[in-house]
Amino acid sequence: MVRKIAILDSTAFIIGFTEAGGDAVVTSSKVLEEARWGEAEYRALAGRESGTIKVIDPEPEYLEEVRRAAERIGEFELSEADLSILALALQLSRSGDEAYLVTSDYSIQNLASKLGIRVKPVLHRGIKRVISWEIYCSMCGWVGEGIPGKPCPRCGHRLKRRPRESS
Ligand SMILES: [Zn+2]
Repeated sequence: MVRKIAILDSTAFIIGFTEAGGDAVVTSSKVLEEARWGEAEYRALAGRESGTIKVIDPEPEYLEEVRRAAERIGEFELSEADLSILALALQLSRSGDEAYLVTSDYSIQNLASKLGIRVKPVLHRGIKRVISWEIYCSMCGWVGEGIPGKPCPRCGHRLKRRPRESS
């Protein structure tokens, strides 16, 4: 029997999408690291504790494949968490499951369509106001204006981004 699996990204947690009408719900440990702010953190914790949300991390080969695809189309806005759920979607689809991503992130949707991964966009009025991204350096802690994947202005490490929840 084919399992239907919803794979959540951090924007899904921020918006409050943690239940997929009977489909299995999974996410990656990188997404949980990203969803460590405000309401998103409570939802992620509650889902894990009740067992309704499973945490699966993709095999390295699928991560590699997604990374290469991102470079090929020049999609540099993706975080490690984003790459991990795209890889997870590939992995689960190829093992015969019917996996789809739940996200409101345009960069993820863009790469997913290139990889033939199904996406269920989370629609939410005023979404642009709810989620904004913060660019930061995981090495030295710098936070400011920048582009993910480009070198940190202070230490040269690759910059990352994380969702910032505004109220
Ligand atoms: Zn730095």
